[in-house]
Amino acid sequence: MTTARTETVVVDGLALANEIRDELARAVAAHRAAGRRAPRLAVVLVGDDPASASYIKGKRRACERVGMDSLERRLPASADERSVIAVVEELNRGPEIDGILVQLPLPKDVRPNAVAEAVDPAKDVDGLHPLSAGRLLLGEPGLRPCTALAIMEILARTHVPLEGAHAVVIGRSAIVGKPVGLLLLQAHATVTLCHSRTRDLPALCRMADVLVAAVGVPRLVKGDWVKPGAAVIDVGVSDIDGHLVGDVDTEAVLGRARLVTPHRRGVGPMTITLLLRNTLAAYEARRAA
Ligand code: NAD
Repeated sequence: MTTARTETVVVDGLALANEIRDELARAVAAHRAAGRRAPRLAVVLVGDDPASASYIKGKRRACERVGMDSLERRLPASADERSVIAVVEELNRGPEIDGILVQLPLPKDVRPNAVAEAVDPAKDVDGLHPLSAGRLLLGEPGLRPCTALAIMEILARTHVPLEGAHAVVIGRSAIVGKPVGLLLLQAHATVTLCHSRTRDLPALCRMADVLVAAVGVPRLVKGDWVKPGAAVIDVGVSDIDGHLVGDVDTEAVLGRARLVTPHRRGVGPMTITLLLRNTLAAYEARRAA
């Protein structure tokens, strides 16, 4: 007996990101052609974590590619919460700053929630201010966390039907799991949010038409956790001896899932691109206000 194999699409997140970047570049060029300044993103980096430094370099390059401006504010690892918030407040007052992103993680004595709350909600391109989170919960327009938007954009651009589908999200962080759960709900999926204390995670995953893994546990999701024909979005990234590994055992999912995002060139490039789209949205909303 032969088992029918599904042809699994391995999503090229970079190609999708480039499509959106082209759209953004055209929108920015139209503003410039009308005599307006370019949108500007400010990134705050506290400490000298090499991964964070590399992420913000990627963000700067991405801004340049679509014609947006960016600037960086760097603080030493010894900076206290008050001095980080003072920088954020200075950027809040900057008339030509449209988006503010504080790179995580922060030093242990600086509370991420206190910093997120200090950001002007109109410039909250990371979507982590309580007002942004509340608007998301209420289904009101607003800035949403970029990784959650990236996941939704991948599903939309690969034509995965969501209405009535069962979406299982592993991970309940404020930055990925919860917001993507709410966006999937808004798209009329039936959503199950799983976490470290969920009982029988494999059984829940097997019921998913859409499975989002945002955990940070290498290859947690095995091949037989995936329902044939499911769309699998691998958000997690873990560094194992210098090699990046996702939350999904991608090889084992091939031939079973309808599509899977790879841990490289998957959700990552889309997340940066959605940050740019949020910055453009913040710029346009501030101009209209
Ligand atoms: P987090 O640590 O804040 O949250 C992890 C979540 O996973 C928690 O809700 C926890 O309950 C759950 N969890 C932990 N162990 C589990 C287990 N064994 N079974 C089920 N659930 C478990 O992390 P985060 O900020 O949400 O990020 C999640 C992962 O996504 C990380 O690997 C991070 O690096 C990655 N990430 C990638 C991107 C990207 O653009 N590709 C963006 C953001 C985060």
